[in-house]
Amino acid sequence: MRIDVVSIFPSYFDGLALSLLGKARETGLIDLRIHDLRDWTDDRHRTVDDTPYGGGAGMVMKPEPWARALDELTTDSENPTLIFPSPAGEVFRQRTARDLAHREHIVIGCGRYEGIDERVFEYASTLGEVRLVSLGDYVLNGGEVAAMAMIEAVGRLIPGVVGNPESLVEESHEDGLLEYPSYTKPSNWRDREVPGILLSGNHGAIATWRHEQQLERTQRRRPDLLAD
Ligand code: SAM
Repeated sequence: MRIDVVSIFPSYFDGLALSLLGKARETGLIDLRIHDLRDWTDDRHRTVDDTPYGGGAGMVMKPEPWARALDELTTDSENPTLIFPSPAGEVFRQRTARDLAHREHIVIGCGRYEGIDERVFEYASTLGEVRLVSLGDYVLNGGEVAAMAMIEAVGRLIPGVVGNPESLVEESHEDGLLEYPSYTKPSNWRDREVPGILLSGNHGAIATWRHEQQLERTQRRRPDLLAD
């Protein structure tokens, strides 16, 4: 999969050279390219923002650098998906990650200030499928943190990125429930015992217990997931 990220703070993404995603980049499973939006400006100050029409606080990202960036990055692309992190977008969920993990080419445009000139989204839809995606119901300073979360969630679903694919299947949100609790050695730690069933060797009983735990903690912590 190819992922292009456009940002005015490209060094935010240095951390993606680490761990499993770093390895996936080295082995070519993920072709991640980070770009500086200012490379598509044409003035001496490399300006990417201007005052909002209609007045109001803050600055808005100018459309032309974005259009140039998107044009160039989608030139040789058959069917790109253009994602713009936005608190006003659809909420990013595990199912969003699963859907995006099948795409060949994703371009992520990270907004800053009050966001990007609205016409850019309309223009981008002439180049590919546009998705405005929110990390959650709160406001960040920019799209970089949201983009990193999405890249990590999508990247680990690409076959080969996570060593043992079974560990993906059992995780929270994969089946609409939160994951069951996990324990490791020692079985007694600071007077706290591991639930006896996990030491029984009875795989059927362990599977039943784990499923009950999933239901119980989902009901307690995230009843909205059960309603879904
Ligand atoms: N004025 C915008 C609004 O009220 O919808 C918020 C702009 S925010 C300060 C700047 C940028 O941060 C946005 O363009 C977006 O890229 C990013 N951002 C902020 N909150 C986000 C969230 N919850 N999810 C994804 N991206 C977010």
